[in-house]
Amino acid sequence: MNQLNIAKFGGTSVANHAAMQNCARIVKNNPLTRVVVVSASAGVTNCLVELANTEMTTAQIDTVIKQIEDIEQAILRDLGSPAMVEEKLQALFEQLHELAHHEEILQRPDLKDILLSVGERMSSLLFSEVLNQLDCTADNFDARKVIKTDSQFGQGIPNIERIAEQAQKLLSPELARAVIVTQGFVGSDESDKTTTLGRGGSDYTAALLAEALDAQTCEIWTDVTGVYTTDPRITDKARPLPELSFDEAAEMATFGAKVLHPATMVPALRKNIRVFVGSSKEPEKGGTWIAKDCQQQPHYRAITRRKDQVMVTVKTPKMLYAPGFLSEIFAIIAKHNISVDLVTTSEISVSMTIDNPPNSVREKLNKATIEDLRNLCEVVVENGYDLVTVVGNNMHSEAGVSSRIFTAMQNHNLRMICYGANPHNMSFLVNGSHSDDVVRELHKELFE
Ligand code: ASP
Ligand code: MG
Repeated sequence: MNQLNIAKFGGTSVANHAAMQNCARIVKNNPLTRVVVVSASAGVTNCLVELANTEMTTAQIDTVIKQIEDIEQAILRDLGSPAMVEEKLQALFEQLHELAHHEEILQRPDLKDILLSVGERMSSLLFSEVLNQLDCTADNFDARKVIKTDSQFGQGIPNIERIAEQAQKLLSPELARAVIVTQGFVGSDESDKTTTLGRGGSDYTAALLAEALDAQTCEIWTDVTGVYTTDPRITDKARPLPELSFDEAAEMATFGAKVLHPATMVPALRKNIRVFVGSSKEPEKGGTWIAKDCQQQPHYRAITRRKDQVMVTVKTPKMLYAPGFLSEIFAIIAKHNISVDLVTTSEISVSMTIDNPPNSVREKLNKATIEDLRNLCEVVVENGYDLVTVVGNNMHSEAGVSSRIFTAMQNHNLRMICYGANPHNMSFLVNGSHSDDVVRELHKELFE
């Protein structure tokens, strides 16, 4: 098997023509890069989500459409408005208009996904032209032919076997001829209806294609020089990490690090694909390599934070003598497809935390779940928490590892703690208004 690299460029990396040219140089500089996955240009998906979900007047809809078209038109103009590209972009604009004004758009998840797909379909069209103009033969390829998913619009679950089959059949034969530029985030179900993989899903697309095509590496190009010890917006003492293990990266993505979509590490792990994260603006600065084994396995690698957590406590005196109670609780949670992060139990109660981003599908699901739970037992819901997680190695097997963490947090009330289920993390539920401080103090103790 020849060596193959997949390069993915995020929204800010393809925000305009100049940014796209940086990306094109990165592609040209690595002859192993034969597949490129792009996000929609920065801001475009947010506009599309607004069009898909908000009740608006015709004039308001047109204003949002114009915002999107201005971004795309500016790139087209900088490319010298080649007729072929202009024509295709125009066709996408027409679809955008039609869907945004569709009378059922607010009710139909299938239409929403077609609307959302337009962002990546426009950016991939324009980016392949950028490559061609730099004398790098490139083709724009419709990801829906390969990224096969189930029919859960808005959150399609990829079908790994079908993706491998389609990629081998439709993509592999093309790679010697051209660099294939395709859309992140977008897929289709078995009846070829457009689906999407959930917000931020382009990283996942890149990893899925890397898996399907037996690539050795997958590069995620973004606007930061790799994964940091913590979010640099919380503390300017955060610094980039040269290496991370798959396990650590998966914990970090799950527990709130924004650089990678949480599912990205799953295909990488299955096929042992090395993942690189770096900045398309400053590729020379290097970035973070994520691999199965790292040179070092420090106790503390990074701190992440996930906002908008809700803590749900279910109680019943019956629990004392009722061994089936926990399974009833979890059956309800499973029925609503909710994943629970932290769990603690006492004799008559169980507390757990769930993700509760405001105005999300998730928030609605949580409400329905809580109602169902109320039919079974007493339920107390507490809002306003954030989850802070220290990610590292061998955290539960050596003396003193946790005490340094607790020392750093002695001034804060810890509502809930999760420790020991896994050697790679220790998580705390803290008051949302304190979480910045908690992260800063931990960072100081563990990394400065
Ligand atoms: N454009 C999509 C989003 O903003 C997917 C992605 O960028 O990864 O969520
Ligand atoms: Mg992204």
